[in-house]
Amino acid sequence: MQYSQLYIPTLKEKPAEAEVISHQLMLRAGYIRKLTSGIYSFLPLGVRSLRKMEAIIREEMNRAGAQEVLLPALQPAELWQESGRWEKYGKELFRVRDRHNHDYCLGPTHEEVITDLLRHEIRSYRQLPINLYQIQTKFRDEIRPRFGLMRGREFVMKDGYSFDRDEGGAGKTYQKMFDAYQRIFARCGLRFKAVEADSGAIGGSYSHEFMVLAESGEDAILACAACSYAANVERAESLDRFQAGPTEGLKAKEKIYTPGQRTVEEVTRFLSIPPQSLVKTLIYQTERGPAAVLVRGDQEVNETKLAKALDCQELILAEALKVQELTGAPVGFAGAVGLSLPLWADQTLEGLKNFVMGANEADNHWINLNWGTDMPQPQWADLRLVQAGEPCPRCQSALEAYRGIEVGHVFKLGDKYSRSMKATYLDEEGREQFMVMGCFGIGVGRTVAAAIEQNHDRDGIIWPMALAPFQVLITPIEWKPGTETQQSALAFYEELERSGIEVLLDDREERPGIKFKDADLIGIPLRVTIGPKGLAEGIVEVRERRSGQVIKVPKDQLVRKIREKVSEALKS
Ligand SMILES: [Zn+2]
Repeated sequence: MQYSQLYIPTLKEKPAEAEVISHQLMLRAGYIRKLTSGIYSFLPLGVRSLRKMEAIIREEMNRAGAQEVLLPALQPAELWQESGRWEKYGKELFRVRDRHNHDYCLGPTHEEVITDLLRHEIRSYRQLPINLYQIQTKFRDEIRPRFGLMRGREFVMKDGYSFDRDEGGAGKTYQKMFDAYQRIFARCGLRFKAVEADSGAIGGSYSHEFMVLAESGEDAILACAACSYAANVERAESLDRFQAGPTEGLKAKEKIYTPGQRTVEEVTRFLSIPPQSLVKTLIYQTERGPAAVLVRGDQEVNETKLAKALDCQELILAEALKVQELTGAPVGFAGAVGLSLPLWADQTLEGLKNFVMGANEADNHWINLNWGTDMPQPQWADLRLVQAGEPCPRCQSALEAYRGIEVGHVFKLGDKYSRSMKATYLDEEGREQFMVMGCFGIGVGRTVAAAIEQNHDRDGIIWPMALAPFQVLITPIEWKPGTETQQSALAFYEELERSGIEVLLDDREERPGIKFKDADLIGIPLRVTIGPKGLAEGIVEVRERRSGQVIKVPKDQLVRKIREKVSEALKS
């Protein structure tokens, strides 16, 4: 393709509306344009990267035995009423009404449609398992669309659904999809982790999220340096359960005047104690009433774990007035002694002795407190946020902190949909059984954006070879008819194309500086620079976008060198 024939509307200025780098760069480099909030058009370069991602997904899904279908985006309300999600899904579901007053939605996901399809088709165990997927536009009425392709109202997804006879079969399918996802993201050339996750609103018993690692990622992840354990911070565990307390015997409690000392830093400095000897008392309000939650001074409450332990839907930290009302003291002086609230404590506190707590009295703390003697034994549970450096729950190596962008999700759905929608088959004994389902999503546009979040510098995008719209950019430093530079550039261009390389030729009559700037911005992995000086010596220059490294290559070896570099970069 020649640059002058391709629509690449680059922008000089940083677009004001773009909050994240992928959004900024995709606008600036002419990959996408905004139609309206959360809705984007893909321009030619953007479509090329999107199609590459789709091709990798198709190859790996097909290789894993899944089959491609294309389901309608417009879905009748009846199916969603049957599954119970017409109400439950809430305002994020785009709802439309046709001229006959029938309700529909624009699909954000397709469990209902696919389950409806197969309950009419599958009769016998002999027809199972079956695993179907599609690549399609999805809709979600986000309250605040943002971050460009990261959180749009219309987006391209791969969604797949599997149907098995039983849990055993579903487990095998899950593993196949898990492996396929590993290959997909590895082939994209991305650094990623598969993390154990909560299954959230879709329901189901077991799930993994695939996270592209990037500083800008919304999700905090803890991953083991030695084994494959990785989990969202919301559910990460560690072996740091029973922190050994001070070894001395139990002392008698004593009230200490601590004027104005409220925070962990203030109290520990004032009393000259380590934060591990202080127990924080946090008052939470839930729909089941208030509760006091105890964590060590150097730790934080994990509200996801806490909500699970308390078995509640709503959970908020009580406001100052409420704390005063429930504890009799201003914020900063709450403690468990004499408190008539349900007491929950993180399990790392269990071995702690002679610890410090607020005294439920302004400007006072207790020291030398002990469980059982000075307050009732609390209910012990894993309630804290695990921190980097704590031991891995599987192998005890140190956990490391990462940030990630969720790009894929694999779920075991069980019989949630097949039961509510009565999708059954007859087993070998002729008994009716519910099919056991799995569902498998990849945000296609989101992965492309995440690739940019992970791979860019201040000059622009640095595409991994597999997702780049072109593999090579030829930049002649002049474009004058009849010159050797132009003729060589055209000759290389044709030869590279013939040998199957995806090549873009910058045939614009622009200054080299402008061409180089645009080249860095749009992020093609390899740039071949051709000029009269090099040609006189029989060489051209090949520059790698990522390293900035330039090598001089004899003219007659250019094609071989480029093919080598491309195939090396695609190997992963
Ligand atoms: Zn480990």
